[in-house]
Amino acid sequence: MSGNRSFLYSLNPIGIGTNSVESITSYIKRISDEHLVPSTRLLDFILEKYGDSGYLRRYNFKGKKVSKILTNTEFGLKFLEALTFSSPRDDLHYMTMLNLSRMLNKLKFNEYRKWCPMCIEKMKEDGGIFYEPLIWTIYDVKYCKEHNVYLSERCEHCNSKLNHIHPSNLIAFCYNCHSFLGGTGVRIDSNVEVIDKHNLNNFEELIAKIPNMNSCPVKLFNTFFIRNLKDRTGSIEVIAEASGVKESTVYAWIRGDYSPKVQNILNISYSFDISVYDLMFQKGIEKITKGQISNSIPLKRTAAFEYTSGLDIVGSDVEVRRLFIEKELDRALKTKIPISKNDFLIKVNISERTLRKYQNKKVNELVQRYEEYQKNEVRKRENETKKLIYEAIMLLHSNDVYPSVDTVAAKINSPNVFRIQKYNKYRKELLEELGYNFDEA
Ligand SMILES: [Zn+2]
Ligand SMILES: [Zn+2]
Repeated sequence: MSGNRSFLYSLNPIGIGTNSVESITSYIKRISDEHLVPSTRLLDFILEKYGDSGYLRRYNFKGKKVSKILTNTEFGLKFLEALTFSSPRDDLHYMTMLNLSRMLNKLKFNEYRKWCPMCIEKMKEDGGIFYEPLIWTIYDVKYCKEHNVYLSERCEHCNSKLNHIHPSNLIAFCYNCHSFLGGTGVRIDSNVEVIDKHNLNNFEELIAKIPNMNSCPVKLFNTFFIRNLKDRTGSIEVIAEASGVKESTVYAWIRGDYSPKVQNILNISYSFDISVYDLMFQKGIEKITKGQISNSIPLKRTAAFEYTSGLDIVGSDVEVRRLFIEKELDRALKTKIPISKNDFLIKVNISERTLRKYQNKKVNELVQRYEEYQKNEVRKRENETKKLIYEAIMLLHSNDVYPSVDTVAAKINSPNVFRIQKYNKYRKELLEELGYNFDEA
């Protein structure tokens, strides 16, 4: 690393201009790996070179902070400036939602990573270039359309949630237990709610079109859009119905008091059966005429109840809901591999509060069953790893090769294994038993 700027390699971002473009956090991990440094250190270095006084470095890029570098916040802009300053490339912002974030007001991102295990499997088959698409970072994107599975939010071996940025730079592996994150995933065994499908299609289209946009919509963009929509439909009532809000809210949008949220824009696009991109940028809005609504948005989401088979659940009938949740819990308690509470919530699309309200005892059962399973799995993996270490050490020893950290780690194909304290301790114990005399600090 030398020179004042452009000290980063010109690593090509993956998939710019497609709906699977990689996220900036994925890019940071990949480019850190190219430079053979932990991404946290590379970021520190970049910010130092850029002359950041500490404003950006205050953030350690854990949890919530990641949304700040994906969207149009002051932090996001400054961060991108620092990164672009250090890179010979000028297309890094295509890996963020910066251009869209005024238009997609209140777009939420996940605090931790999400991934499609089958996409990761496919990357492995395709030669092992692992990356994380930007679309996985969007909170409202819950599944992979291509593989029809839910996106995973925890390592299925050690149950950890994974930070977007971590010193290990690992992408397709868990940085805690080093397991591969590919797999078969949790299949969606009933139809995804039509509005969720609509939302995913629209996010994909918008992400693919980012490089085509020659301007970044400003805050008033949505106000003008709603005013235009009112002229077309001639009715506040129609807009309120289409977007799923009260009429008074639409008046506030038109006055410019505040801006419609991303979900309202998605609802409008769904109601008029036009994609968000066409609606906002192309001639889409011209197709909308007085009083015309193709679909109407139910004010209350009912996705959980589409998941069930046989039960016809109407509105907010408490007893029917209770039966539904009980039936689903019974089913979840009988799966071959125990299902976590989190996955259950995602599968039936209800909140934790709703779940607790209807079924306390069975929820505890579900949680316990999963915890036991996890503990067993961890123990099993631990024993397997120890067995590998044992065999490697014995083999090296019998061949008169000193079983050093690096040699053993290479032998069992797990470069970071001895960063985990218990395995390092185990190795030392074995070596002492074999008569090695050493003082490793
Ligand atoms: Zn997938
Ligand atoms: Zn793990």
